[in-house]
Amino acid sequence: MKEQFRKNLDEVIWNIEQARITITEHHIVKLVAVGKYSDEQSIKTLYELGQRAFGENQVQQLQTRMQNLEELPLEWHMMGHLQSNKINKLIEARPTLFQSLDSLKLAEALNTKLLEKTQKMSCLLQINAANESTKSGVSSEEAFDIYQRIQESCPQLKLKGVMSIGAHVTDEKIIQKSFEATHKIYDALKKEGASICSMGMSSDYELAIKCGSNLVRIGSKLFK
Ligand SMILES: *Cc1c(COP(=O)(O)O)cnc(C)c1O
Repeated sequence: MKEQFRKNLDEVIWNIEQARITITEHHIVKLVAVGKYSDEQSIKTLYELGQRAFGENQVQQLQTRMQNLEELPLEWHMMGHLQSNKINKLIEARPTLFQSLDSLKLAEALNTKLLEKTQKMSCLLQINAANESTKSGVSSEEAFDIYQRIQESCPQLKLKGVMSIGAHVTDEKIIQKSFEATHKIYDALKKEGASICSMGMSSDYELAIKCGSNLVRIGSKLFK
């Protein structure tokens, strides 16, 4: 398993490198390994190969893995839709970054609970740039305003930027459009302090980076 993972990781890192230098040499891209199709031993193996940032899309799994792998110096990202009855669990887990803040309502509920516990949380606003009914996230049109409103009304949330999932189609042009739409919003939000543009998964991370992504979330390409 370790040799296969080494090959996967080398390939992904190489591809990220090729894509990022098309922007500039200074365009740094963070790799978050998504472990949802995988087990704790696999995460440990990837850690031994040098990977430090990991992500999950279910709070329960996130919490369990954070606890079981506590002795490793890892950072943990949550990147799935959060039901409001799971807010307390997420706060308990204390992830490094909550990437899927997908509505003003969730932001306000999360803020209230964080205030009770005098805790803060770093978050990304999820944008549904491809306008797909199967995906959560705020629309491209509303994203800028909602971002500002969260900053004004949710002091316990530290907004760091935006996250988006590429359009779920085979036509690369349409996927590119969805990434470009997200990146445009990210650009506008830089003056509001945004520094993270999270776009790109196993099937589309090189394209996402060429569109300006500086954080990719990769599962199947690493853990196969
Ligand atoms: C599963 C998941 C990923 C990784 O998907 P792969 O296609 O396996 O790379 C990235 N982001 C989110 C939000 C996910 O749920």
